[in-house]
Amino acid sequence: MSDMDLFKNDVKQWLEENCPHSLRTPTPENELVWGGKNVNFVTQDMRDWFERMRDKRWFCPGWPSEYGGGGLSATEVNILEKEMLRMRCRPPQINLGIWMLGPVLLKYGTEEQKKRLLLPMTQGEVRWCQGFSEPNAGSDLANIRTSAVDMGDHFLVNGSKIWTSYGDKSDWMYALVRTDNNASKHAGISLLALDMASAGVTPKTIDLISGKSTFCEVFFDNVKVPKDNLIGDVNGGWPLAKLLLQHERSAMSKFGEFSLPNHFHLKTFVNDYMPKPHTVSETILHARTVVCDMEERIFNLTVQRMGEEARSGKDVFPTMSIMKYAHSEQEKVKFELLLDVMGYRALGWQLDGCANDSFSEQELSVTRGWLNSFTQTIAGGSSEVQLNVIAKRVLNLPDSKAGSSVKKVTTS
Ligand SMILES: Cc1cc2nc3c(=O)[nH]c(=O)nc-3n(C[C@H](O)[C@H](O)[C@H](O)COP(=O)(O)OP(=O)(O)OC[C@H]3O[C@@H](n4cnc5c(N)ncnc54)[C@H](O)[C@@H]3O)c2cc1C
Repeated sequence: MSDMDLFKNDVKQWLEENCPHSLRTPTPENELVWGGKNVNFVTQDMRDWFERMRDKRWFCPGWPSEYGGGGLSATEVNILEKEMLRMRCRPPQINLGIWMLGPVLLKYGTEEQKKRLLLPMTQGEVRWCQGFSEPNAGSDLANIRTSAVDMGDHFLVNGSKIWTSYGDKSDWMYALVRTDNNASKHAGISLLALDMASAGVTPKTIDLISGKSTFCEVFFDNVKVPKDNLIGDVNGGWPLAKLLLQHERSAMSKFGEFSLPNHFHLKTFVNDYMPKPHTVSETILHARTVVCDMEERIFNLTVQRMGEEARSGKDVFPTMSIMKYAHSEQEKVKFELLLDVMGYRALGWQLDGCANDSFSEQELSVTRGWLNSFTQTIAGGSSEVQLNVIAKRVLNLPDSKAGSSVKKVTTS
């Protein structure tokens, strides 16, 4: 038996013994475990699973052990992920720090920063949020205006961010700031790690159509950020931002694989609501379901193939935009189909704190899921922007013609 076969057996046995059976199911939104100072466990099983994975150092299995990672090789990480997927183990915690900032710190952080910032991530102790977008800097991200002025031993930060997911619940933010107003817009940007408990930081939640508020505006009023929280060089933040965004897209496109097990399984839904097609329109719905199901399988196989390519050393990063685009657009189609299949049964709406016994838990999540599917075509760079990035960076097509009315995209 090869070393990898032995490793696989160990992984299987460990997961079998340590992942509670109640957590081998898709994760409902209210049961997502966000790491951080105020981590919340709905059940004891969730706490156990979190602590066991943390102690095993498998929150970040592939990171070097000196920074709290598991020190596994790419092949071993692959085996672990596949086994978790096969057993349908829930992710023990969700943490933007691990998905996005961690890989950037590993590449660009100082030794001191790696020890100070990565270690708490691997323990699930700090919840991070992303401070990139501003009112006039979304697709055109390099247009950010939030300023950080060099004051000797610290930067003084003023301005505001918008659409900061869970800004009110996060402990730290990685933020893009302008450190040079005279340089060209890409050249005057830096990346800072910012403690959300600093004086002068005010998050304000934004109400959403879904009835939930996951977004914040975050205001900075003379916020002091120590110099050693600068990641990379002063004015050198843009390449780091691009790398970070690629990791964001990669994480988003993998949601269906292992990041967030998919809550909505088409076949189950369709069988429950439309066991046998009787009319022409039901037959058409069935045909749409088959197409949707096939596309989902194709997508998952492609993600797996790209994972294998990445692990064998191929640079698959530019193609993450394709996956992000395909996945988010596919989710939209899927939810539209669910609404059509379920009819009025999809229209249940749970208000916080109110019982709603007329609809099942699944039925109550469909309309919210449908509304949420639109947001995924915007978060991490809109679909139109992804198409531009694909045209430029993957297909190497020329820029839009001079004089074209289409604004130049600078997101990545
Ligand atoms: C669910 C969700 C979570 C988010 N979380 C965060 C977060 O945590 N932190 C953060 O910093 N930001 C976050 N965002 C913000 C997100 O990054 C921006 O909304 C996104 O980049 C688009 O920017 P915008 O909203 O300013 O739209 P705009 O850039 O104003 O775009 C408006 C429309 O114009 C289109 N468009 C713009 N430029 C072009 C072009 N050149 N060619 C073709 N079409 C174009 C866009 O596709 C879009 O349809 C989140 C957004 C969502 C929806």
